[in-house]
Amino acid sequence: MNLSRFPRLRFAHLPTPLEPMDTLSKALGGPRLWIKRDDCTGLSTGGNKTRKLEFLMADAKAKEADTIITQGATQSNHARQTAAIAAKLGMDCHILLEDRTGSSDPNYILSGNVLLDRLHGASVSKRPGGADMDAEMEALAEGLRASGKRPYIIPGGGSNTIGALGYVNAALELLAQAVDQGLRIDHLVHATGSAGTQAGLVTGLKALNSGIPVLGIGVNAAREKQEEKVFKLACETADHLGLPSVVKREDVVANCDYVGPGYGVPTAGMVNAVKMLAQSEGILLDPVYSGKGMDGLMDLIGKGHFAPDCNVVFLHTGGAAGLFGYRDVFDLPGYVD
Ligand SMILES: *Cc1c(COP(=O)(O)O)cnc(C)c1O
Repeated sequence: MNLSRFPRLRFAHLPTPLEPMDTLSKALGGPRLWIKRDDCTGLSTGGNKTRKLEFLMADAKAKEADTIITQGATQSNHARQTAAIAAKLGMDCHILLEDRTGSSDPNYILSGNVLLDRLHGASVSKRPGGADMDAEMEALAEGLRASGKRPYIIPGGGSNTIGALGYVNAALELLAQAVDQGLRIDHLVHATGSAGTQAGLVTGLKALNSGIPVLGIGVNAAREKQEEKVFKLACETADHLGLPSVVKREDVVANCDYVGPGYGVPTAGMVNAVKMLAQSEGILLDPVYSGKGMDGLMDLIGKGHFAPDCNVVFLHTGGAAGLFGYRDVFDLPGYVD
């Protein structure tokens, strides 16, 4: 596997740290927990989309695009990281935000990631929940082409075979760190949504014969649907790398028991997990992905899913900017006299 064959721009702060979470491990009385800090990828408060965008933006440049179009939910971290990189590369950026939660909370629709999208100079428009967002992006691209622009469409979450290479690369990086630190990783756990992160990780870790199982905690679809989505993209990514059939269906495992009422809708478990990490490790999770991912990890630890002497790495995929869109959900004390 030789990733240097694929065009890539460099703007992520890599490698991201791999650190123990000893306070949390002790509080939970479970396995030894580690955290891979992909919330620290650097650009515009960081996050997992930055690794994907290194490959996607290189492809956009190679195709001589001058304008980027992408889409996401209102508090999309992907949209925010794309807007930042487009700004850095001097490209126009158009973001379509799908109203998937129906929330009219001003924090949700104006603050957090939405504020940052606009600060980076992107043009932001809304679409109703359930809209065909790929068709919406295509229609926008058509209009821009007619006015002489050269648009490049990035799918939601940057999840295609090009974007997933960012997480194949993350698998290489993680394994090298584990060797350096003498760390035997027994499990890797993270939040899974548009599937590119898990597809890239599973492909990379299988290609390297690492023996490390990946558990995706779903934030959206039901288990079967999520696993199929990840598996399909992992197979396509493996083909793209010239490693056909390196990923088997059983390598793709998702647990979708922590979604709650729906995508982007808060759960009590998420609130608890976000507070727990903030107050035990000083780490900010996010309300849509990593908070639900950590809720799942903590609940599974409580149920004895992991052997007590094993090492579990949680991949922090970022998203803390979204906290400001969910201010009222956390029910925090006011000023003390
Ligand atoms: C997008 C995102 C994820 C999910 O990654 P996918 O590649 O879309 O599955 C997880 N966490 C955060 C904070 C994200 O923004």
